[in-house]
Amino acid sequence: MGQKFSVVAVVAAGAAAAAHVASKAGGSPGSSPKKAEETEKPTAAEPEAAVAGPARKIMILFGPPGAGKGTHAPKIEAKLQTPQLSTGDMLRAAVAAGTAVGKQAKAAMDAGALVTDDIVCGIIADRIKEPDCTSGFILDGFPRTVEQAKKLDEVLAKNGEAVAKVVELRVPDAVLEERICGRWVHKASGRSYHVKFNPPKSLPKGKKAKPKYMLDDLTKEPLMQRSDDTAEALVSRLKAYHAQTVPVLQHYGAGKAVGVDANRGLDAVWADIDAATEWD
Ligand code: AMP
Repeated sequence: MGQKFSVVAVVAAGAAAAAHVASKAGGSPGSSPKKAEETEKPTAAEPEAAVAGPARKIMILFGPPGAGKGTHAPKIEAKLQTPQLSTGDMLRAAVAAGTAVGKQAKAAMDAGALVTDDIVCGIIADRIKEPDCTSGFILDGFPRTVEQAKKLDEVLAKNGEAVAKVVELRVPDAVLEERICGRWVHKASGRSYHVKFNPPKSLPKGKKAKPKYMLDDLTKEPLMQRSDDTAEALVSRLKAYHAQTVPVLQHYGAGKAVGVDANRGLDAVWADIDAATEWD
C-alpha cells in the first residue's frame, strides 16, 4: 500500500498541476464547460488518494480481555479476507524485539495498564497502509480509548473512509478470570486455546496442561501463556476496560455497534458474529 500511496499521490499531484496550467491558459473563470471539468479533477482525486478500488471493509472486534476476540478473529479473517490487526500482538512483538516502542510499552503492559494513545495510534496508522489491508482490516484491541477512536476516525476520514461495524463480545467479568488463566496461545499465528474450553489436540484427556502437551494444532509448535494473563493483572485490565474502553462503544453509537452474548459455546457465538459481519 505504501507504494500505491505514492503512485496515486503523484497522479493526483499531476492532475492538480495540469488543471492549474489549464486554468492559467484558459483565461476567465468558467469560460468553457471543458475547463470547468479540468479544474474539478484534483478535488475529485484527493479523497481516494490512498484507497484504490472498492471501499475497504473496516471493522472493530470489541470486548474485554478473554471475551474470545483471538478465538473468533481467524474465522472473520477467512470470511472477509481481511487481516486481524491486534495492537496487543504488535506491542508484544515490539517488546520481544526490544525496539524503542517495546521498551516504552513494557512496564504498562506488565501492569495491565494502557500504553499511550500516541504509540498505538502511530502503530495502527502505519499498519493499515500495508498491502494486505487493501480490502480492509479487523481491528482487535484498538481503539481502546475515545481519544484513540477519534484519531482513528481522523486518519480514515482523510481517505473518505470510516469504521463500518463494531462487533462487541459480551462476557460478565466473573467468567473472565477462568478464561484468561487457562489461555494458551500460538505466538506466530495468534491462534488461541483454552485448557478446558478449547484444548489443543495434543493435550491428552484428563492430563494437566504442561508445556509438553500444549502444541498448536496446525504447526505442532509449542504454545505459550502470556505474562499478563494472571488474576492480578486482570484486575487492572478490567478496570481499564470499563473506565476507558467501554465509552468507545458510545462513540460509534448503536447504528454501528452490535452486541453478541459471548458467554456461550463457540458455535453459538460464531453464528451471531457471522451474522453481524455480513457485508453488502
Ligand atoms: P491485548 O492483547 O489486546 O489484551 O493487549 C495487551 C496489552 O497491550 C494491554 O493490556 C495494554 O497494555 C496494551 N495495549 C494493547 N492495545 C492497546 C491500545 N489500543 N491502547 C493502549 N494499550 C494497548
